[in-house]
Amino acid sequence: MSAEQPVYRSVLLLGPPGSGKGTQGKVLSQMPGFVHVSSGDMFRNLDHQSDLGRLFLEYSTRGELVPDDVTIRLWRHHMERMAKSGQFDIKRDVLLLDGIPRSAHQAEMLADNVDMLLLLHLQASQEAMVERIHKRALQENRLDDINPDVVRRRFQEYEAATAPVLEFYPTDKIRTVDAGAAPLEVLRQIIEVLQVMLFPETLQHSIAV
Ligand code: AMP
Repeated sequence: MSAEQPVYRSVLLLGPPGSGKGTQGKVLSQMPGFVHVSSGDMFRNLDHQSDLGRLFLEYSTRGELVPDDVTIRLWRHHMERMAKSGQFDIKRDVLLLDGIPRSAHQAEMLADNVDMLLLLHLQASQEAMVERIHKRALQENRLDDINPDVVRRRFQEYEAATAPVLEFYPTDKIRTVDAGAAPLEVLRQIIEVLQVMLFPETLQHSIAV
């Protein structure tokens, strides 16, 4: 790994649109030691009038990915700002990455920056997810999710570009959870995996119910 790049200990939440990466990431980031970083939120929080904001809208309204070089540069700045402002401590905290890396190429570009402790694969069928996305689009006014053609495109993009991220990381770092289950059950599965993979010493305190 290169000496110049900060190295972030990370857990990647990987799954199709609507699989609950954001929901689970937000809940888990309430726990000390975990910080949720969503690249989608990072883009949505850009000033829509800025060059980058306009570029994001151009791609996202088509259901396409923003080009890799722009995305990775913006993400690195975002992380530096978060570290500087004390929103996370590189030595203490684990990043819960949501939406990035989103292709094998991005994973390669981030290899010097990211120590991937675990990849949580949130597996779910497209049909179940489409319904969730539709509800979310109306509730959160997410322009990219309102148009069914764009949603379809986002799934195609996931299959073509993002699913191959699973092949980039060693299989012993990958665990699959059933993201079609109720959110609380998905959370339970994730906590179990995090405990086994990251904090095995805490398992002895489990209480049988
Ligand atoms: P999300 O909220 O993760 O579904 O992301 C919404 C949109 O942001 C995507 O459809 C892309 O246009 C863009 N986006 C988010 N993350 C990335 C990424 N890692 N690479 C390229 N584009 C991204």
